[in-house]
Amino acid sequence: MFELNGKVAVVTGCDTGLGQGMALALARAGCDVVGINVVPADATGALIAEAGRRFRDIRADLRTAKAAVLIGQVVASFGRIDILVNNAGIIRRADALDFSEQDWDEVIEVNLKAVFFLAQAAARQFIAQKSPGRIINIASLLSFQGGIRVPSYTAAKSGVMGLTRLLANEWAKHGITVNAIAPGYMDTNNTEALRADPVRSAEILGRIPLARWGLPADLAGPIVFLASPASAYVTGHTLAVDGGWLGR
Ligand code: NAD
Repeated sequence: MFELNGKVAVVTGCDTGLGQGMALALARAGCDVVGINVVPADATGALIAEAGRRFRDIRADLRTAKAAVLIGQVVASFGRIDILVNNAGIIRRADALDFSEQDWDEVIEVNLKAVFFLAQAAARQFIAQKSPGRIINIASLLSFQGGIRVPSYTAAKSGVMGLTRLLANEWAKHGITVNAIAPGYMDTNNTEALRADPVRSAEILGRIPLARWGLPADLAGPIVFLASPASAYVTGHTLAVDGGWLGR
């Protein structure tokens, strides 16, 4: 039920952090992986090779790259695509009163616009292949909550949860499922500033029922579940993987 032998998975932003963890988990479940990365993902490639699977790294900046071209490169590499993980994301922190247009635009471009157009290009390919595809978007606790000092990030991640539902509704008839994972507070570059602030860091940790920051490996089970036949009747859902944060 959880086996993905012979599938081709695309993971954006898999040179580090959560994307690297999910790319490796998908490879260990049987996938060949294509990364779409703004910087080289050699460490991820080495880990996937150790798992006995193929890795191709496509270099692109998701602020400007054309999704149809990227998906075309994936198909040219491995002949098909079965799973798209829209993981790449950035965050900019400033008070809403001072927030700049550049910090608004760049976050929306990577975290929301690229998510939609990559999903569209992948879905067109799934339909052309006549195969049931899987799309998994990486949302956030700020899909559910407002947060503070991250207005473009909250707008984008709230948008990702809504878009996940809309695409699930429209594409169910093609056998495509669209779900999202909302990671909690995870130990990656994204949260470096929070973890470096002793006050914010203690506040956050004190509120997590499982009493630790999450790790990339904590997404391994959830991503394989949502990519595999085990989740065949799950679509439009955003799964929080947050150590219990939202229940608090
Ligand atoms: P990270 O900063 O380590 O990784 C972000 C990835 O996105 C990197 O691979 C980076 O190269 C890539 N990226 C950034 N800008 C890009 C661009 N213009 N084009 C292509 N790739 C680009 O952080 P992470 O925590 O691993 O983040 C992964 C995802 O998880 C993001 O969408 C993030 O918003 C989300 N998330 C993280 C947390 C957390 O606590 N770390 C919580 C909720 C959601």
